[in-house]
Amino acid sequence: MGSSSLLSAVARRLEGKVALITGGASGIGECTAKLFCKHGAKVLIADIQDELAHSVCKHIGPNSASFVRCDVTDESDVRNAVDTAITKYGKLDIMFNNAGIVELANLANIIDFDKADFEKVLDVNVMGSFLGTKHAARVMVPARRGSIINTASVSSITGGITPHAYTCSKHALVGLTRNTAVDLGRWGIRVNCVSPYIVPTPMSKGFYPVDKDGNAIDVYSNLKGAILKAEDVAEAVLYLGSDDSKYVSGHNLVVDGGYSIVNTGFS
Ligand code: NAD
Repeated sequence: MGSSSLLSAVARRLEGKVALITGGASGIGECTAKLFCKHGAKVLIADIQDELAHSVCKHIGPNSASFVRCDVTDESDVRNAVDTAITKYGKLDIMFNNAGIVELANLANIIDFDKADFEKVLDVNVMGSFLGTKHAARVMVPARRGSIINTASVSSITGGITPHAYTCSKHALVGLTRNTAVDLGRWGIRVNCVSPYIVPTPMSKGFYPVDKDGNAIDVYSNLKGAILKAEDVAEAVLYLGSDDSKYVSGHNLVVDGGYSIVNTGFS
């Protein structure tokens, strides 16, 4: 029995849907790809890590998931990824603009911040979502349906917990989400973003506090006793992608255990 058969048809919230997930080879994107397929979706993973993406597809099963190489900063790659979804699966219902990077250097000091480092982060995090939204809209508008989800961050509404370019990029995604929700709402297309607190993934390695055994520990969150996992973020994305959220658009769904309502600034 494949993983997609584990849930009954009634509980499968994405039955018959087609999703394109950027950054689906790892972390939050990988978990979301697995959850979407469990809920009956066909998923196309768009990423620059071929080997990792292929192993995720193999794990999910070739009937449910496939891979297209795509650098989200390259418009021809993004155009091709959307066209591949149409060629392979016939339509595109959900676009998850999730690929992102964080700058490793220059954590707090704007004076020493390198312009090229700043641009690189904005290019992947903002331009990538812009291009994903643009090309998803190209096929969703004629279909008069679709759900577009951008991965922002708790740093979209706070300052000082992540490096400068990353924080700026995530604030920008909220603006992109709101503007395109108004634009594309005219054709019944919803646009939202999800804003996770720090999740243990390859990206947050080195940022995320761990105990002596290397297990993630939560020293910041307001919600004691709970560690946010990529799976929890995937559940929020599932909600935004499914018809359960059919009247939700332009929203920034913060998944942070209450962190942002009590904390701002460097901890
Ligand atoms: P991750 O590093 O595990 O996954 C990111 C994926 O994006 C990787 O598979 C990578 O290959 C891909 N990617 C990077 N640049 C790309 C490009 N130019 N084109 C295509 N794919 C590219 O990290 P993650 O934590 O799963 O991050 C996913 C998203 O979640 C990012 O947008 C990140 O900013 C956001 N986020 C992460 C955290 C966290 O703590 N991990 C918190 C809030 C938001």
